[in-house]
Amino acid sequence: MSDVENKEAEVASEGAEIRDTDIVFDCPICGKNLVIDYRGAGLQINCSQCGESVLVPIPDGMQLTDLDLDPGEILKQLFATRRNYQKAEMQIQSLKAKLTQMQETFIALQEVVAEGLAE
Ligand SMILES: [Zn+2]
Repeated sequence: MSDVENKEAEVASEGAEIRDTDIVFDCPICGKNLVIDYRGAGLQINCSQCGESVLVPIPDGMQLTDLDLDPGEILKQLFATRRNYQKAEMQIQSLKAKLTQMQETFIALQEVVAEGLAE
């Protein structure tokens, strides 16, 4: 009962290699040197410096089918997207509340002005 296998550990250590699959390119707007995981090829990202929307180039010889993500990765991205969505929803709610407040203040001020003009 001592034949323990360590094959899984070997496979896991492969992820520690230097990734020369990363895509390196310059932002066409501000010239900032950008590095992105190869799975970002062909996607639109926001430049970390100027914030503009930038199209990530697809490296020569790379097939778009190489970009297929494993289901775990897709789920992770889905969760992250949903969290961001919820955050944005909360901001919208808070802005809506502020807008309502400002509208009420505006109406109240209008009434004061109207009263002042009537006298
Ligand atoms: Zn930029």
